[in-house]
Amino acid sequence: MSRHQFDLVMCMNQPGTHIGLLCEKCDGRCPICDSQVNPKYKVRICDSCSFGKQGTSCIICNTGKGVSEAYYCWEGCKLEKNKDGCPKILNIGSNKLERHFERKAIES
Ligand SMILES: [Zn+2]
Ligand SMILES: [Zn+2]
Ligand SMILES: [Zn+2]
Repeated sequence: MSRHQFDLVMCMNQPGTHIGLLCEKCDGRCPICDSQVNPKYKVRICDSCSFGKQGTSCIICNTGKGVSEAYYCWEGCKLEKNKDGCPKILNIGSNKLERHFERKAIES
């Protein structure tokens, strides 16, 4: 495996009506460029990312509990990054993904 940051994958599905959330640690950050200034448009995430537990977790780190609404920064909106699709970071290399599903199976 390479050490590229390719394990950070954005969802990019068609956004639905749900607002993306950020945890305390990521609060105020733009999900596209990490900018902490000039928030502009609320982030909308897709239906599958807003389903169940997914919908209440932080869209950037995916582990924190979402406590505040996410915004795209002004710059990102100018570049129309807010129209690219759902910006939620999907969980990450296949190992973690498997663990994620295992845990889900146990819980349910
Ligand atoms: Zn931005
Ligand atoms: Zn999504
Ligand atoms: Zn976070």
